Amino acid sequence: MTDATDIARLHADFEASLAVASSEGDLQALRDRFLGRKQGRVTDLFGTLAKAAPEIKRELGRQINELKAHIEQALDARRASIEASRPPAGFVDVTLPGRPPAPVARRHPLTVMRERIESVFTRWGYEIVDGPETEDDWHCFEALNMPAEHPARDMQDTLYLERPFTRGVAGRPGTRTPPPADVASLLRTHTSAMQIHYMTRHEPPIRIIAPGRVYRRDNLDVTHTPMFQQVEGLVVGERVTMGDLKGTIVAFLQELFGEKTRVVFRPSFFPYTEPSADVFASCHKCGGSGCAMCKRTGFIEVLGCGMVHPAVFEAVGYPKGRYTGFAFGMGIERLALLTYGVDDIRHFYENDLRFLEQFPS
Ligand SMILES: [Zn+2]
Repeated sequence: MTDATDIARLHADFEASLAVASSEGDLQALRDRFLGRKQGRVTDLFGTLAKAAPEIKRELGRQINELKAHIEQALDARRASIEASRPPAGFVDVTLPGRPPAPVARRHPLTVMRERIESVFTRWGYEIVDGPETEDDWHCFEALNMPAEHPARDMQDTLYLERPFTRGVAGRPGTRTPPPADVASLLRTHTSAMQIHYMTRHEPPIRIIAPGRVYRRDNLDVTHTPMFQQVEGLVVGERVTMGDLKGTIVAFLQELFGEKTRVVFRPSFFPYTEPSADVFASCHKCGGSGCAMCKRTGFIEVLGCGMVHPAVFEAVGYPKGRYTGFAFGMGIERLALLTYGVDDIRHFYENDLRFLEQFPS
């Protein structure tokens, strides 16, 4: 038995459902539920009309029709409003929170160290030069005042190549080039070979640094690797003095370790410089009072240097006595070990992210 109360209840029910409908799918479900041909609730009402008392039949029929029209209208209106608020194709919601950035790659601590060194010298007008890692005996030893019988060659356990290669030596006119028979080939044991490469191609004034990998027949341990990196420096001109060398090295080490760094030069020996010096910097960790890093001495050895030996100038064919110059060399790994307080050189090559991520990049 249907009456006006049923119609009103159904109306209210529809309004409540419409209020929470938010998609076209919701609207279709509502249409099926209320107006569906077989089981729609309004359709059912029409079905019960036959049993209604004759005196109210007409009025009920009118009300049901009214409700049906209202529902259709309301569904259409809501559909139109949903369509109107749908974002256009390619819409970007700029109010959404951003995606978290992916982990950013960082530079290796040895790269950071090399670039710190390079940045100091390039600021001072030095040119950065690069050269071959495979070398012939002449560039690596002979021209650097280390003839075949020279004891300094024993100090450097060299990795020789099984078969010698020949590389054309494009030098300046007058340069003494290696005799063709003497082409023992090797992996360079020091970047000092770059002094020869550069001087055989350029007239002074020269102001270069040459960073690069070098190779020795060393076993891997806490402080040794068969491959490591050096930075070679060379300055040549007229009237370049030991004072220039000392000033350059002191200024460089103060740039690297801080302006309070004290620097000590101690006489040393290298075949290709005379006089030669080992250079010590006051320990940047304890300030010179003595700690584990500096082995209680307050100083750490950081590089070797000296005035270019006249025999080297002679080998590259510079006129006798015209030029003077200085050279220095340092190990990048060694400086990185000291700077970062790392106790084992092998960490630098093991690519363990837990280690690498501790360094500033
Ligand atoms: Zn110390």
